[in-house]
Order: sequence, then structure tokens, then C-alpha cells
Amino acid sequence: MKIICIGRNYSEHIRELNSPVPDSPVFFLKPDTALLIRNRPFYYPSFSGNIHYEIELVLKICKTGKNIQEKFANSYYNEIGIGIDMTARDLQDIAKQKGLPWTLSKGFDHSAPLGAFLPKTVFQDENNIPFHLDINGNTVQKGNSGEMIHPFHNIIYHISRFMTLRTGDLIFTGTPAGVGPVHPGDKLEGFIGDQKLLHCLIR
Ligand code: MG
Repeated sequence: MKIICIGRNYSEHIRELNSPVPDSPVFFLKPDTALLIRNRPFYYPSFSGNIHYEIELVLKICKTGKNIQEKFANSYYNEIGIGIDMTARDLQDIAKQKGLPWTLSKGFDHSAPLGAFLPKTVFQDENNIPFHLDINGNTVQKGNSGEMIHPFHNIIYHISRFMTLRTGDLIFTGTPAGVGPVHPGDKLEGFIGDQKLLHCLIR
């Protein structure tokens, strides 16, 4: 399986990092070794001094597809969950300056804590899914799928022009404003609506 992530999908987050607004979605990959599941702790890696959290809605792909038109995209994912796109911001800043890939800053081991999924059928309106991240009980990021520059169906259209999507693939759909550093001892909790789906302790 592969993990496909979209960058710069929320205007407020683009502003906070002084990034340009993209014409088409910005994509990058994380390897399967990035997954951190079952609410296991995240161990702060020695190669970075500035690991940031980015809470994101995650789509789970349920059938193989290529060149998927937006009007058919709905049938290619059946679950929606929440994950954190852990980012070594210091390494990413260097990569951006030098025009180098984001692979190390985004794809390191356990850079993708992943929570529980909900069946798509529980959502009455996929363009109005509120989600948020709490750290030590305080809400630090709040988003809604309705604020995405590129909605789910458009993301699937763009990716599948280039890459075949397969059952089990995951799509991280971008983070809203409010990203910031994590510190050992922090307790991260991810929610869709009022439902807590992800718990991650920083060690
Ligand atoms: Mg992200």
C-alpha cells in the first residue's frame, strides 16, 4: 500500500507558512513504514529539533482505479478517518530552500500516526466534516472538509491521472491552520466531530 499526502489544501495554513497557493494540488508520498497505529507512542527522532503536528482527514481507498473522473470518485473510498502528518519542519525548510524533495522530512518512520476510521455512510455531508486536534486538552487545530481548496473527489481525480489507486491506499487530505511543534510528554488527540479517533503520546 501507499500513503499519498496532499499539501497546501487549506488557505489559512498556506498563509501561516508563507507558501504560494498552488494551481493544482501538491502531492507527496510516505512509505508504509511511516504508519503508527493502535495509538502507539511517537518517539521523538534524534535527527530533528522541530517536529510539527498536522492533523488531517484521511481517506481509505476500497478498489483499484486509474483516471477516475470526479463524478465516479465517490465509489473509490469507503472510510474516512483522521491522522497526523508529522513533519520535521527544520529538514523541510532546508529542502524547500535547496529545492530538494520532502522525502526525509515527511516520510520518516512513524511520521503517520493513524486513528480509527468511520464508514463513509455515517457522514450526511462530506463537504461538512468538522475535525480537530487537541494537545494536552487544548484545541490547537480546527478544520472542516468544506474549507478544502481541493475536495475529496478532485484529489482522487488528480492522483489517479498519475498513479493507480489500490485497495488499502491512504490519502492524507491536507491540514488546516494552527500547525506547531510537539514536545516529549505531549498528549495528542484527534477528533472527527466529537468523536475521539486518535490518541498519541509523544515520548
Ligand atoms: Mg500535511
